[in-house]
Amino acid sequence: MAPDSPVERAAVVARLRAAGCVWAEDEARLLVEAATGPEMLAGLVDRRVAGEPLEYLLGWAEFCGERIVVEPGVFVPRARTALLVTAAAAVTGPAAAVVELCCGTGALTRALARRLVAPRLLAAVDLDPAAVSCARRNLADLAVPVFAGDLFDPLPVAWRGNLDLVVANAPYVPTGELTLLPAESRRYEAPVALDGGSNGLAVLRRIAVAALSWLAPGGHLVVEVGAVQVDELRAVLTEIGLVAEVIRDEALDATAMTARRPTGVAGRRPSGMAGRRREN
Ligand code: GLN
Repeated sequence: MAPDSPVERAAVVARLRAAGCVWAEDEARLLVEAATGPEMLAGLVDRRVAGEPLEYLLGWAEFCGERIVVEPGVFVPRARTALLVTAAAAVTGPAAAVVELCCGTGALTRALARRLVAPRLLAAVDLDPAAVSCARRNLADLAVPVFAGDLFDPLPVAWRGNLDLVVANAPYVPTGELTLLPAESRRYEAPVALDGGSNGLAVLRRIAVAALSWLAPGGHLVVEVGAVQVDELRAVLTEIGLVAEVIRDEALDATAMTARRPTGVAGRRPSGMAGRRREN
């Protein structure tokens, strides 16, 4: 039987539904599309029924209207993270120098490349080699470099003090709450993409501390965070000397924080990166 026959499709829907897939019809359609034959389809459905995330089976996830390549273990872009694109676009002027940290698939950078006005520099960074290779695939056609390393460490030192936007969907789940994540996330995504330390803010704090010197005066750090962590993160950002604002989107169930480097704070002025600096 052809994998796209109605009978086969109905059988897939029934198996997915029995396994608890809420969007069984949609998933069945996508798996049927992805399979090149009945055996492959049966294999994909078996894996899905066993709990593997749909995105790993398809090899892609949709983010901001584009198909993003997702490789095994790499954090699957979430719909809620679209808020970071809107929030970043709202605070970032034309010709910006933009770095995405903890980039995972690089989905955010792809969306920012389309949304921002003529960014003069785009780059992405991740610690996890699997994420770096996945992001390189997603960003190859945009010629965006993907650096391997910890946060700002692998970036050219000449960029220090000159970035207009640093954006990150960093890990922010408190270590003790990792076990509460959905099984798809807990069992299949790299813990390094999720684990934010004891209060969930360990990585965000390190990003914020370093951002103070990597951002240009007036530049912004834009991050995602859990709704219940907002007050604690605001306190961290404020203590560091950044000017924090919260953006909440109920429809997306998403919370973002923007943190501006004040113009008055002295940063190290790099010599190697001539060009426009936003001074607002
Ligand atoms: N579970 C969170 C989410 O799905 C994890 C995000 C994160 O740590 N960056 O959005």
